[in-house]
Amino acid sequence: DVEVVLVGRSNVGKSTVMRELTGHDVTTGKKPGVTREPNYYDWASESFMFTDLPGFGFMSGVEEHRREEIKTDVVRYIEEYADHIIAGILVVDGKAVIDIIDRHRADGEIPHDVELFHFLEDVGASPIVAVNKMDKVDDRDERLDTLCDRLGLFPPWQQWQETIAPISAKQGRIEPLLDCLRSRFEAEKRADLL
Ligand code: GDP
Repeated sequence: DVEVVLVGRSNVGKSTVMRELTGHDVTTGKKPGVTREPNYYDWASESFMFTDLPGFGFMSGVEEHRREEIKTDVVRYIEEYADHIIAGILVVDGKAVIDIIDRHRADGEIPHDVELFHFLEDVGASPIVAVNKMDKVDDRDERLDTLCDRLGLFPPWQQWQETIAPISAKQGRIEPLLDCLRSRFEAEKRADLL
């Protein structure tokens, strides 16, 4: 069985994306710890497991050490199930992500989003970056090119349309993400035939 996981900082719109993708209200992300929920979905003649991993990064009222624990749990989960995971959807807030990345870099830290992106690549859980809240972004192409640069992908972003999916989940505009997922399922099928 194949699995698709959803990761991202708190408040980027993970639950909204999940709802748009599955039509379900999912609350797993709000529970403490990372548990494997047997949530199966049928979509475009595919059947797969969809796992919403807890949000990480800043959360009001959550202490630093607890936040680190959550991130460690997320990383462990992905490592453990990497063989099944055909896509790791990293949801980011299109309006805020560059500033957050650059602020962390300026402080000499590796930004969580960049770290997660490379981690997903490293374990073979091919990352898809769902750049959400694009309805709030005016300089769309410039913003997406900059994001590619920060992720180590050569701009222009249009070269990476199977990886970078600009969406607006709240408006129900997630077609680029569906396209990315479709191509992952197709790649998986081709790999199975070999
Ligand atoms: P989560 O914490 O990552 O699960 O985020 P939620 O799905 O709860 O969304 C956080 C906030 O962002 C909510 O107020 C949503 O209505 C808002 N939001 C989610 N998607 C979008 C979007 O595409 N555009 C805009 N403008 N707001 C969004």
